[in-house]
Amino acid sequence: MKPMEGDEVPLRINTFTLIPNQKYRRSCRHLQSKKDGDRLENFHIQYNCGYFQIIPVEIFHKVLCYLSGLLFKRCTLLLPTKERLKFVQNQLLKNPCFRMGGCTMLAQCSGFACFGMLLQTLIAGWDELECHRVFNFLSEGANLPRKMQSVVCSRPGATRKLELQIRLFYRRVLLDHWEHQCDIAFWLTRILKPWPMVNQARLLYLLYGPMSISDGQIHWHHMTQIPASEDSIKGLAAAVRLLHENAKEWTADDIFTLLEELAGFPQEWLLENSARLLICCGNNMCFTFLANKAVNGRLNELATLIVFLSLVCEKDGYCMDWTVKMVHRICKVIASNESRWNFLQAIEKVFARVTMDMIESLMFSGMEEDEGVTYNMYNMVNAQAEFHKEVMLRAFSNILT
Ligand SMILES: [Zn+2]
Repeated sequence: MKPMEGDEVPLRINTFTLIPNQKYRRSCRHLQSKKDGDRLENFHIQYNCGYFQIIPVEIFHKVLCYLSGLLFKRCTLLLPTKERLKFVQNQLLKNPCFRMGGCTMLAQCSGFACFGMLLQTLIAGWDELECHRVFNFLSEGANLPRKMQSVVCSRPGATRKLELQIRLFYRRVLLDHWEHQCDIAFWLTRILKPWPMVNQARLLYLLYGPMSISDGQIHWHHMTQIPASEDSIKGLAAAVRLLHENAKEWTADDIFTLLEELAGFPQEWLLENSARLLICCGNNMCFTFLANKAVNGRLNELATLIVFLSLVCEKDGYCMDWTVKMVHRICKVIASNESRWNFLQAIEKVFARVTMDMIESLMFSGMEEDEGVTYNMYNMVNAQAEFHKEVMLRAFSNILT
């Protein structure tokens, strides 16, 4: 929300604070103020960003941070939570930019962010039970359960406007302002937990998946179609990691299932993207996830992931030593020597198979697909060579040092 520029700015921006003109009679004053009111209303309709358009956003943030929020908090200090929330309802939610569906320039408007900062000041220091009430109050007030139901029951992208509303409301009002990770984890848990796991993964993607800044469209098929950049994946990875590290309400199994569901939605992700998500989740989570597969005997799946982890290391410039160490750690989790050897051989077979598949697809692809396949094959062959270089360094370490 930037200040308006050019001729279109109404000259009398202080219209609504004007002292009524003494020379008018009461009836005239009434007409005048109605006229002013209308003008202001037109102004609001014209610019769609409410009265916030009038002051620079930085100033407004400061006012909220240092005055109104605290003042509001202090004014309502003696009221029970329920009454304070009623006050929020009656006073704050009058502003269309604070309400879901109230503003037509949602992506550019900072109404939700202002509301979020105000709310944060108001509820700072409240206990968990009170925060639960705040969540229920906001959800019910904005009719969110029904809106989310409608989103998760539709094809991804079919309810674009609603998807954007939900994402921006949750991110800007409840998730983005907190300083401490445990607070974000608390609110994210409130948002996700009421839903079954498959929907949790979908909602997580809705909140943190890649989105077009220009039209506010969630890129639902990004991970299933093209190798994703680290930037487009790290928001999701940070959210998964946050839940894993901070929320008491998530078991390791919950997180594994969430990751699996995530990498299968809306269809199976490219293996490269699944591997990139794991790497972005950090060393510990990545190892725990892979070790869990090892313990459950899913060795072929594991070998495939290792190959794609090495591809991501090669492409994104990580040290291949990391992948080899990971394989070493995982081997220790596998119960028998025989299974360990099977796992190591499976890695080699996957390297060979994936390269063969790429050669094949290069032979049968049209000219326009050549470039991508060639680039991928180039990286895969280099990844394999780097991987083996690290293995050899270990195998021959006694004669190299
Ligand atoms: Zn607005």
